[in-house]
Amino acid sequence: MENKITTDTTGKLQVPAQPTIPFIIGDGIGPDIWHAAVRVFDAAVAKAYAGQRAIQWLEVLAGEKAFKETGEWLPAQTLATIDSYLVAIKGPLTTPTGGGIRSLNVALRKSLDLYVCQRPTRWFEGVPSPVKHPEAVDMVIFRENTEDIYAGIEFAAETPEADRLKQFLKDDLQVDYNFTATTAVGIKVVSEEGTKRLVRAAIEHAIAHKLPSVTVVHKGNIMKFTEGAFKMWAFEVAEQEFADTTYTWGQWDQTKAAKGEEAANAEQKEALNAGKILIKDVIADNFLQQILLNPRDYSVIATLNLNGDYISDALAAIVGGIGIAPGANINYKTGHAVFEATHGTAPRFANTNTMNPSSVILSGVMLLNYIGWTEAADLITSALSETILQKTVTIDFYNLMEEATLVKTSEFADHIIEKI
Ligand code: NAD
Repeated sequence: MENKITTDTTGKLQVPAQPTIPFIIGDGIGPDIWHAAVRVFDAAVAKAYAGQRAIQWLEVLAGEKAFKETGEWLPAQTLATIDSYLVAIKGPLTTPTGGGIRSLNVALRKSLDLYVCQRPTRWFEGVPSPVKHPEAVDMVIFRENTEDIYAGIEFAAETPEADRLKQFLKDDLQVDYNFTATTAVGIKVVSEEGTKRLVRAAIEHAIAHKLPSVTVVHKGNIMKFTEGAFKMWAFEVAEQEFADTTYTWGQWDQTKAAKGEEAANAEQKEALNAGKILIKDVIADNFLQQILLNPRDYSVIATLNLNGDYISDALAAIVGGIGIAPGANINYKTGHAVFEATHGTAPRFANTNTMNPSSVILSGVMLLNYIGWTEAADLITSALSETILQKTVTIDFYNLMEEATLVKTSEFADHIIEKI
């Protein structure tokens, strides 16, 4: 019992010296990268706290391994264990084809209401990149994780459900659209609570890490009542709950309307000089240009589910690809958090001991930071940076680097551990 991470009455995490943390090993390349990563985590924790702290890793089953052993892809026991231990880490999972569960990841996020998908994106010196200045990218994406078109409310063409819905839209809501027999229908859902809790987490992150801005990325010019409302609610939560620490472009607009542009600019300047965080917005398509043209202008990103999906991959590609992109799914209210490599199972490479474990290692760094073990997290980050800088890398980076040394997944971990 005393090994559980818990939250106190204020919602702050209470972490024992020997916390039990459940892990899902993952399918495909999962076991290779996990076995490498866990040695790195243990070495860093032992070094940082001189043996006074250690993580007790507890395996829980999901994916193919769970199916083989229990006949279920995501056993209830796994969900219950993660629920009770609060913080977990996972490798990639196969999406079962045909019937049953739509996606194991989505099921996990849903059951624990992990409403923030958090993905930091920064460049490590030496990592091959398709752009000239990857070092200019240093962003943290807060992607809404439970709503939007991802909610799975969709109806296939030529089904009675789709037909009924189309009839309702035409007859009851007088929707002026030429539905045909083969029109499929999906529903986009965006709520005030869903938006505000996501944006609140993004602003709190910016405050805690002294970051200059939170950018709300949306397509509100077209989808006015969903993505447009997302922007409106985002500005609202900043103005209502963080008036002392933020200045929004909504306030700028109001001042401009009342007193002119010069006054609005002066007000913004004054707020930023006073150290306030700028809450701004950008339309999603423009944002995909901006991350290539002016990445230094962006720091914390708050966006809807689908936009966040595209943006995460685009940013990951700029800083070196999915082999090095970590992620977490978090409920900041309950404290539940599942950290995960953002790539898939790469089944062709299963058990080859060749793939890059950086994504799961950096997910572990996020986990350590989340539980407040920042010293161990920092040790890993610098040892990983140094290893890459020495051009000791796995095949994905080796293929793109000159004069690099090719190592196996497990050897890459050995090199990191040597430097911890
Ligand atoms: P994938 O990410 O598994 O692989 C695509 C390619 O990326 C691989 O062929 C490989 O070249 C490269 N790659 C991936 N991980 C790498 C690593 N650690 N190091 C170096 N290179 C790496 O994507 P996919 O092939 O589209 O999906 C395979 C399976 O994974 C599917 O079942 C899919 O549903 C699942 N998936 C799971 C997750 C998850 O669990 N979070 C995420 C995406 C896909």
